[in-house]
Amino acid sequence: MKHHRAWVGLGSNLADPRSQLELALEELDQLPLTRLSIASRLYTSRPLGPRDQPDFINAVAGLETRLSPLALLDQLQALEQRHRRVRGRHWGPRTLDLDLLLFDQECLSVPRLTLPHPEMARRAFVLVPLAEMAPDLRLPDGNEVATLAQALGDSGNLKVLPNR
Ligand code: ATP
Ligand code: CA
Ligand code: CA
Repeated sequence: MKHHRAWVGLGSNLADPRSQLELALEELDQLPLTRLSIASRLYTSRPLGPRDQPDFINAVAGLETRLSPLALLDQLQALEQRHRRVRGRHWGPRTLDLDLLLFDQECLSVPRLTLPHPEMARRAFVLVPLAEMAPDLRLPDGNEVATLAQALGDSGNLKVLPNR
């Protein structure tokens, strides 16, 4: 079976978000047929959508996996459940959100999974950590992640989280 490279966006704004993310990174490394090959620094960002919620902590992880895209999504959703994520309103607060950003250069559109993640090219909290780890990475449409990150500019919204 072939190895695939997958990029996962992590986000949390409830119940000690930094610990949620640090634990989630370890858990990603434990998933079946999968290992964590690289993780970005942690960032803080203002919430998208409803503003009456805490700031988010975000990071991006690079995985090497032998799972299929949908099998990996199953694993990510099970991991979210283990962090007791309660699915409330769209873009509302959550203990852990795991978005599958990229899976090799695959393009997919089925009800459960769209690849690449449809919003990633517009989100600094995804593009900046990705560009930090993989400056030459391109989306399947040919756009370079680092160029997209620069084009978004710094809205002042995204900050590296200081070490504790
Ligand atoms: P957004 O996708 O805009 O970041 P969200 O993360 O708040 O919003 P969720 O409630 O976590 O959205 O997910 C809604 C559904 O999106 C999930 O049930 C999942 O099946 C589907 N989905 C489609 N494409 C993806 C993807 N690339 N990664 C993760 N989930 C996806
Ligand atoms: Ca998300
Ligand atoms: Ca999600």
